Amino acid sequence: GDAPDHPAGGPVTGGTPDRPDAGLPAGGTASHREPVEVLVVGSANLDRVIRLDRLPRPGETVLTGDAETGAGGKGANQAVALARLGRRVALRAAVGQDAGGDTLLAGLRRAGVDVSGVRRIEGVPTGEALILLDGDGENSIVVLEGANRWLGPADVGPARPAPAAVLVQCEVPTAAVRAALAVTGPLRILNPAPAQGVDAALLAQVDVLVPNRIELAQLTGRPVTDLDEARAALAALPVDRAVVTLGAVGALVRDGQRYELVPAPAVPVVDTTGAGDCFCATLTSALVDGLPLVEAARWAVVAAALSTRAVGAQGGLPTPGEITELLA
Ligand code: ATP
Repeated sequence: GDAPDHPAGGPVTGGTPDRPDAGLPAGGTASHREPVEVLVVGSANLDRVIRLDRLPRPGETVLTGDAETGAGGKGANQAVALARLGRRVALRAAVGQDAGGDTLLAGLRRAGVDVSGVRRIEGVPTGEALILLDGDGENSIVVLEGANRWLGPADVGPARPAPAAVLVQCEVPTAAVRAALAVTGPLRILNPAPAQGVDAALLAQVDVLVPNRIELAQLTGRPVTDLDEARAALAALPVDRAVVTLGAVGALVRDGQRYELVPAPAVPVVDTTGAGDCFCATLTSALVDGLPLVEAARWAVVAAALSTRAVGAQGGLPTPGEITELLA
């Protein structure tokens, strides 16, 4: 039931607006809206999901007939997850002046994301991700950056009035990431994915860091293969509020001197693509509600587990009611 709802082969939505602003071009005014609670800065991509029995090794060819296209990109995924949680959320991103860009914007608007600050760029394609998915729900991903590569510092300026939180990932140029985090007031949350280009100066601009285990290892130069190593790596970070996501294990939280493992609920997994994005969005939403970091992580592990129930980065994203039900 929750398959991606924007197959690229299908018609571009837009004929029957289901929101009052659905006909506005990106860049249109949104003065009628309530103030934005969370500003998300990041990538927007078309995801081509290809399912295989197992991932090909270098030099190997694997045949399959099983593929579909959906909306993705960490920025867009996290924005849509926040909207599903009932947050007023705006996205700063860049897409091409092409059918893919139309499709992504229509989907974001339908999800309830404010896209008035999404830049459309002539002459470059909308970003695309090639996602290979095996029978166990593991994935390998190649991203063609396209328009994402052109997101600049001027495109990410703060929403006015200032949002409660700014949530940023690293699939866009570091200059844009830096600019997005150069705010005072909002809680600054960084998902350092991928971790290349994240340096000490950038980490100094972050209030809460949310790496996965690979990113934590890259950021600290330490192995992260078990809980003891994850704890030692978190302790080595210059950011004292951090959460490392640990897949089916859950997440390990560092809140100052306090460390706590928040286990993931056992769920039947269909597709883990975007689980990390759902985790970051839910953590952010709970922090905006004023929850302590460990409590926010409890919501996030439940939401992320629910997000694995359907195919696609934006499939299976839960509502607050569904999270509450599983938390109880
Ligand atoms: P992805 O790239 O697949 O979105 P990631 O590698 O960035 O994810 P993970 O640590 O694998 O991040 O997953 C993020 C969170 O999603 C985990 O902390 C956990 O809460 C949840 N999660 C992931 N896989 C599972 C699973 N098999 N069962 C339950 N929860 C899961």
